[in-house]
Amino acid sequence: MKTYKIALIKGDGIGPEIIDEAVKVLDAVASRCDIEFSYEEALMGGCAYDITGDPLPQETINISLNSDAVLFGAIGGQKWDNLPREKRPESGLLRFRKELGVYANLRPANVFDELINASSLKPEVIKGVDLMVVRELIGGIYFGEPRGRDENRGWNTMVYTRDEIVRIAHQAFKIAMTRSKRVCSIDKANVLDVSQLWRDVVTEVGREYPEVELTHMYVDNAAMQLIRDPRQFDVMLTGNIFGDILSDEASMLSGSIGLLPSASVGAKIGVYEPIHGSAPDIAGQGIANPIATILSAAMMLRYALGENVAADKIESAVKRALKEGYRTKDLAQYDAKEVCSTSEMGSIIANYAAK
Ligand code: NAD
Repeated sequence: MKTYKIALIKGDGIGPEIIDEAVKVLDAVASRCDIEFSYEEALMGGCAYDITGDPLPQETINISLNSDAVLFGAIGGQKWDNLPREKRPESGLLRFRKELGVYANLRPANVFDELINASSLKPEVIKGVDLMVVRELIGGIYFGEPRGRDENRGWNTMVYTRDEIVRIAHQAFKIAMTRSKRVCSIDKANVLDVSQLWRDVVTEVGREYPEVELTHMYVDNAAMQLIRDPRQFDVMLTGNIFGDILSDEASMLSGSIGLLPSASVGAKIGVYEPIHGSAPDIAGQGIANPIATILSAAMMLRYALGENVAADKIESAVKRALKEGYRTKDLAQYDAKEVCSTSEMGSIIANYAAK
């Protein structure tokens, strides 16, 4: 039997509630797949600041680097919003991603048939959408130098090196190999020199994956095509700023923030987390939707641990729970047969995953 070490960072707000349900589901599936998990909890965010004076204690970095993967809830809340910038929970998270060197953000967007009416787009446009945005996370214009502003001018630098493009492109092609074998690389090569390099390097890397069909699209067209005909996409490969915008646009295809998982991966340890925040407005009420976190745990099994059977079991269990009409409060208006609490939803999914 294989044992995996998982670092659990529950964080603030609804973080502890949703992570507890993901652990319940992981343990249920482990029993069926001849694997087991040992968990070590680590502090980050407002709760870490309250106890240690630092939103990202060194111990959390050490525990994470000594694990096989990090399962992350969410951090932040009004209580900490007025702290100096470096003490704020969000600063801890950015520092954490840098420390772990997670340069690729993977954000799937798919539409569950049962929740097709939760999207603001027409059912016939979104039925069957299943795409993955692979976004470069620690380069590009958000980090480029020089940057600054004075009274009359502000400036940032959009820069990518060949090496940065090569490594993110490999991520996208490898993921495409496990899916429908199509990569659409997004750039603005008609205007930006950095995008011309991006396009050339992605094309070169693509030659190493002859089975994958590579296309290129300008970002403005991609924004339009995502709404017009999202089913045309399988893997969308993007730089940092384009991916930031397009992945949020893509997430709205499914209509609910409580359903969408993500992964941030790099050369070392990956971080698996829901796309939503700590939802302080509903924390402690037992009504948060745990599905985004449970699906993040499935991504962890697939991408960090190579446990595809266990990942499939979790994803099928989620689909089954939704198909049978179980809904947390956020989705109660969409064909609910039974509205359940966070922990009831976790138990239902765990029960199906163990079958
Ligand atoms: P949010 O995602 O926390 O909440 C937005 C809305 O969606 C709220 O109404 C919330 O109740 C609802 N919601 C979110 N997750 C839900 C779930 N699982 N089930 C049901 N409803 C859910 O965004 P926000 O309110 O802008 O931010 C709250 C805090 O979270 C802030 O401090 C912000 O900085 C932080 N944040 C953290 C992360 C992270 O940890 N990665 C990401 C985004 C925001």
